[in-house]
Amino acid sequence: MREITEIFLHCSATWSKQDIGLKEITAWHTTPKSKGGRGWSHVGYHYIIRRDGTVEKGCPIEQAGYHCSGHNAHSIGICMVGGGPNGEDKVFTEAQYDALASLVKRLRIQFPMTNIYGHNEFANKACPVFSVTQFLTRYQIPKYANAWNKSRWPHFKPSEFSNLWGAGDMPQIWIATLDALERLRTLYGKPLVLLKTDWRPDVPALFVDVKIPATARDAVVKKAMDAGFNSARAIDGGVRVYM
Ligand SMILES: [Zn+2]
Repeated sequence: MREITEIFLHCSATWSKQDIGLKEITAWHTTPKSKGGRGWSHVGYHYIIRRDGTVEKGCPIEQAGYHCSGHNAHSIGICMVGGGPNGEDKVFTEAQYDALASLVKRLRIQFPMTNIYGHNEFANKACPVFSVTQFLTRYQIPKYANAWNKSRWPHFKPSEFSNLWGAGDMPQIWIATLDALERLRTLYGKPLVLLKTDWRPDVPALFVDVKIPATARDAVVKKAMDAGFNSARAIDGGVRVYM
């Protein structure tokens, strides 16, 4: 896997009523220059988010894309379909924003050292047309990797997820784990330390262990049960929840 340190958000610069996706964008990118295309060997983006929120996989993430000049070797490019030819059709759907947030959160777990940018931060363009800052704030996604690590998970170690990553492409597990951590953080009301997360095939269930002082364990267990976790119990050093 190449080193990935940046995630770029783009738009397709098409009208909001145009229901296009991977197929059309691939054609624009790979058609020879002589015929009005870009003449690239493959589609420039790694992910394309259609108007209905469907996420389509374009260029494999192992491979550099073509989407932000000077940054392609170490980045992932995500394209939101819409925006208008000159940025005059800024309406993206809620399904698109939700899908983008899930995708970015998952990529952040897989590549914890990534910063998130709009194309317009590195090019004299309007792309992606929407405010990346507002989007990140709305979904509580820190823009910078350091902020992510320090403000949300001060002792978060990506290696703790390696047993899950090693098991193949299971984005639903990364998302479930992150969701559980966020819910627990809200219940506890303070930043949490992740102790361990793993899959228990005998249950079967995913569990997450977080560090909680002994005096607060029972209260957090009760809140977690009330909040709809499948199970919660006090463990040595903290609390374990099952999803
Ligand atoms: Zn762009």
